[in-house]
Amino acid sequence: MQDCIFCKIGRGEIPARKAYEDDELLAFHDIAPQAPLHLLVIPKRHIASLADAGDADAPVLGRMLALTGRLARENGSPEGYRTIVNTGRIGRQDVMHLHVHVIGGPDPLGAMLPRR
Ligand code: AMP
Ligand code: ZN
Repeated sequence: MQDCIFCKIGRGEIPARKAYEDDELLAFHDIAPQAPLHLLVIPKRHIASLADAGDADAPVLGRMLALTGRLARENGSPEGYRTIVNTGRIGRQDVMHLHVHVIGGPDPLGAMLPRR
């Protein structure tokens, strides 16, 4: 999509600190990290959100998840990490281009969600 910020990063039109790239995927460091390791994995092809994905997107979604272990090991979180896919208004998704957050670091993370 023309004006989508993550499409622009995928096309190299906006700079990003890349951690992995191939023909269909890109992983880069989040600009406002919430933990020592905070990467985003995106498909280069625009998919607005997980709720918009269908069967045809299953291979690229699988590849995104399958990449996360390697990314964590290579970027300072070898003993585990958390993946988050915020989706839509309820999921508080801000950037409407599907992305998987890969969050971790040398120490255990906080609770998955704040208690309410
Ligand atoms: P979400 O709330 O799940 O849509 O997360 C969007 C994420 O994208 C946030 O963690 C932002 O810090 C991150 N972000 C926004 N713009 C950029 C950018 N230009 N480069 C890297 N990360 C970004
Ligand atoms: Zn996009």
